[in-house]
Amino acid sequence: MGKGFFQVPVAVNEPVKSYAPGSPERKAVLTAYNTMFNSSTDIPMYINGKDVTTENTRKISPPHDHQHIVGQYHLAEILHIEEAISTALEARKEWSKMPWEQRAGIFLKAAELIAGPYRAKINAATMIAQSKTVHQAEIDAACELIDFLRFNVQFMTDIYCEQPDSTSDAWNRIEYRPLEGFTYAVTPFNFTAIAGNLPACMALMGNVVVWKPSDSQVYSAKIIMDVFREAGVPAGVINVVFGDPVMITNTVLASTDFSGLHFTGSTFIFKELWKQIGNNIHKYKTYPRIVGETGGKDFIIAHKTANSKQVATAITRGAFEFQGQKCSAASRAYISSNLWKDVKKYLLEDIKSLKMGSPENLSNFMTAVIHEGSFDKLATFIDQAKADANAEVIAGGGYDKSKGYFVEPTVIVVKDAKYTTMCTELFGPVITIFIYDDNDFEATLKLVDETSEYALTGAILATDRYAINQATKALENCAGNFYINDKPTGAVVGQQPFGGARASGTNDKAGSAQNLLRWVSPRMIKETFVTPIDYRYPFLEK
Ligand code: NAD
Repeated sequence: MGKGFFQVPVAVNEPVKSYAPGSPERKAVLTAYNTMFNSSTDIPMYINGKDVTTENTRKISPPHDHQHIVGQYHLAEILHIEEAISTALEARKEWSKMPWEQRAGIFLKAAELIAGPYRAKINAATMIAQSKTVHQAEIDAACELIDFLRFNVQFMTDIYCEQPDSTSDAWNRIEYRPLEGFTYAVTPFNFTAIAGNLPACMALMGNVVVWKPSDSQVYSAKIIMDVFREAGVPAGVINVVFGDPVMITNTVLASTDFSGLHFTGSTFIFKELWKQIGNNIHKYKTYPRIVGETGGKDFIIAHKTANSKQVATAITRGAFEFQGQKCSAASRAYISSNLWKDVKKYLLEDIKSLKMGSPENLSNFMTAVIHEGSFDKLATFIDQAKADANAEVIAGGGYDKSKGYFVEPTVIVVKDAKYTTMCTELFGPVITIFIYDDNDFEATLKLVDETSEYALTGAILATDRYAINQATKALENCAGNFYINDKPTGAVVGQQPFGGARASGTNDKAGSAQNLLRWVSPRMIKETFVTPIDYRYPFLEK
């Protein structure tokens, strides 16, 4: 502990840059994009502060131009995972004793490096290899990651300030110790910010980490590691490994020192990992912490008093930004029948105006979906909807993977409210809409609640306050992030802590103190000033 009660800078959200024509940020990001797109990068793993290469590599191609190669990354063998674990445990000896203000300094510096010298690069990497438009890259790879880093430092100090009461003869203190052992971060493709935050927030709290990024996010993961290195994260504190997720996970979970899983990704994988941890429970020295933020089937319900134009905009933005590949993306909507004619008109107009193509062309609103597996899955569901009598594709429905994995923004209208695309997470630019009778609002709320296994995000659009109140109550358990008169996406760190329950995760709210609390194990220290010298209590006297 340092010699003073230090105050950290008050966390503020990073302003989103516009990338308007003529702006310096537009020029910088396009220059970085072109340089990186037209060169080939070699991405090693990063273990114990060293770049690690192997004989086994995999190519990186942009989803919007899958024959073009922008680099390669190196794949782990078991010995690399074992080394990552042992070096993490070795690093823990020093890192767990590092004063908090030194840890804070590192991650605050990382935030400023991203805000400044690394901004164009991390955005360009996210545009190239995850096919985000510049705006989607900016709000994710730059702003949200900066926000996570800044706000977590503040939340850490808030946690440390939480102390029990003391009396004049006993002083009570709580130490928020890092977990004993090492932690494991497994991150998804769709948010560079999540990929950076999961290992960083555990390390900030004094833990050591083995981090396995998604195969589809390796390019921006490399930039994150460059930032962490330059910011001063010591060797062995965050170790990055790439490759076969099953081999890596089996090796990590077999270690007796495994102490926590910080996962974001799909529900099925998370449940499997939970099961595996359960099966191994007798091995571990401590009960591992398990945090998982997983899938969603996020809804919009429009009451008969909603504004049709607002409903259409919420659907267009909520369902199609980043090709619907946000865990919070609107993928099912329930529209009151009196609104449908207008909502449909506005929605079809919007969709007609959406441009799709490479993120390098900044006028494109949408680009490609992440990989062929996702493309094929979406094509199958779209074809099925075209063939099914109780479903109608009223917009989009086209797809083409000749150059990139492009899927048109697609709207399916169903007669059966429990049609498969109303329940299954597709993770692409497809929304399914059910039109309900104006008078069936209450029954429709029940339907929304019961239709999906997930409970991540959802939105009610209405002008009638009674209806808003009714929906807020009826939908209490089917969204961890609930929106009134807004789209169900776009949570901001420090403003809307994010996470869902049911099959959507453990709801530990990324970007909040609650999440950080999962990565510490409090130690209560009671110090008695005048220690008793006689065991007899007064009531024992005759
Ligand atoms: P995914 O489940 O395919 O992959 C997530 C991570 O798990 C990757 O690193 C992957 O390599 C790893 N993985 C895959 N199979 C594994 C296995 N058998 N053992 C161990 N690890 C394994 O998910 P994705 O496609 O990268 O991301 C999309 C999913 O993530 C969607 O379901 C989305 O809803 C969810 N997501 C949720 C949130 C949230 O906050 N709730 C945020 C982002 C994404």
